[in-house]
Amino acid sequence: MLEKGDPARSQLAEAGGEETEAPRARFELDDRGFDEVPKKYRKFYRKWLGDDDVLQPNEVICPVCKIVVRSTRELREGDRIYCMACLTRLRVVKQDGRLEAHVEY
Ligand SMILES: [Zn+2]
Repeated sequence: MLEKGDPARSQLAEAGGEETEAPRARFELDDRGFDEVPKKYRKFYRKWLGDDDVLQPNEVICPVCKIVVRSTRELREGDRIYCMACLTRLRVVKQDGRLEAHVEY
């Protein structure tokens, strides 16, 4: 479903609509045993494993509960994601060359 008016903006992440930028990489998500959300959503989250952990292009850390929120596609600045573990809406921003999630009110 595309938004009326200006389909090139806003809801692209959810809608999977046409992109004007380079296509995004897609990711297969596996269940990492994250049990703080219903089973069908587990694959969208995982625990942050500490300093040796590496975020993939489809992952950002929730700044509220410090878990890793995962997407089936590469994340980009401006994307909106939802942390089901702490019920927080997040917006992806680029900081120091890497992606971070900021709380959106
Ligand atoms: Zn969270």
